[in-house]
Amino acid sequence: MNTSEKLFERAQQLMPGGVNSPVRAFRSVGGTPFFTKRANGARLTTADDKELIDFVCTWGPAIHGHNDPDVRAAIAAALENGTSFGTPNPYEVEMAELITELVPSVEKVRMCNSGTEATMSAIRLARGYTGRDKIIKFAGCYHGHVDSLLVKAGSGALTLGNPDSAGIPASFAAETIVLDFNDVDALRQTFAAQGEQIAAIIVEPYPANCGLILPDPGFLQALRSICTEHTSVLIFDEVMTGYRLAAGGVQELVGITPDLTAMGKIIGGGLPVGALGGRAEIMDHLAPLGPVYQAGTLSGNPLAMAAGIASLQKLKALQPYERLEKMGQIIRDALVGAAKEKGLPIQVPQVGSMFAVFFTEHPVRNYGDATSGETQHFNKLFKYALDHGVYLPPSAYETCFISTAHEGNAIDQAADVLAAGIRAI
Ligand SMILES: *Cc1c(COP(=O)(O)O)cnc(C)c1O
Repeated sequence: MNTSEKLFERAQQLMPGGVNSPVRAFRSVGGTPFFTKRANGARLTTADDKELIDFVCTWGPAIHGHNDPDVRAAIAAALENGTSFGTPNPYEVEMAELITELVPSVEKVRMCNSGTEATMSAIRLARGYTGRDKIIKFAGCYHGHVDSLLVKAGSGALTLGNPDSAGIPASFAAETIVLDFNDVDALRQTFAAQGEQIAAIIVEPYPANCGLILPDPGFLQALRSICTEHTSVLIFDEVMTGYRLAAGGVQELVGITPDLTAMGKIIGGGLPVGALGGRAEIMDHLAPLGPVYQAGTLSGNPLAMAAGIASLQKLKALQPYERLEKMGQIIRDALVGAAKEKGLPIQVPQVGSMFAVFFTEHPVRNYGDATSGETQHFNKLFKYALDHGVYLPPSAYETCFISTAHEGNAIDQAADVLAAGIRAI
């Protein structure tokens, strides 16, 4: 047994499935997960000293690559002053200024500790603000492990065959209406029937927890106009897409102003951070100004704020989005080219530094399309890549991420491995 296998044996005795987050367990792709002892730039080093080019990027946050020197220096500087104060600290003000500058729809912001906390609080705030109970989500979208949002959810829930989690009271799930992404007619019918009960629509504007799905032209605009018409709250869950596709997220790319935005991942620079922001008029319903309660012992933590601020400032200064887009295209072209040669049906939706691989003939517009692909092909590609030094997410339903540290050598090497992996299927 190698070191990872030994560690995993011990872990399985002590933690359910041997992990602290389910997709890490390799259940759908098979085999034993490797343990990482170090990560630098585009590469992970496993407990057995194997180097891997990483397309998981800690599930999104590492847009500058692992162990970025600027982010590390910011954390080290903050550490000199202590790790948590329990009072307001100056970093929180700087972070709020930076977020509201980069994301214009966000007039006020509340920091929390994860993306899940951000979406959970966004839903509560939308309900408290509107005085309504029902929410709409789309099949395959993942918004963290919030009770009322684990209904037809993507990410690990879908990977492990539990898109509707056990342990959620039917009465909670009954307040969640699940519709198909890209289906405007269903949305209009739902609002016509029960619009005055709908507090909010929550949506990943580019759903990226069910592979990667792109909106049809006009779909996101329709969400905006329907919410406005029915005075429901439009919540963009940009935990994954925020700061990754543009400094202002998908809302900047498509020119749509949501009422509330959930953020996470990149804003923590690799430490645990989430944030909820939006129109001041709505945000002021949060305690202590308003009746909607939300709190956190470690919210606005100085180390986490320092890491996040450094990460966002670097994005603001470098604006690396064109470079990232070019790398995304190199990977997509390599995958599509190799599949064409082989006569294998493939879809590689890609936008900027995000891409996914579906083995299906048809463009993927919704959950049904995404889950109709051949996942065994993905599992073979995953294994081939891992054996040849490239780490893809261990699930056919996750999005792959590229960092600025992949530029040059790593991206070219990975493109060759992935093309060879397709040929080997
Ligand atoms: C990752 C993710 C979440 C949950 O964030 P956590 O920090 O894991 O709680 C919510 N929404 C989206 C779109 C995500 O990708």
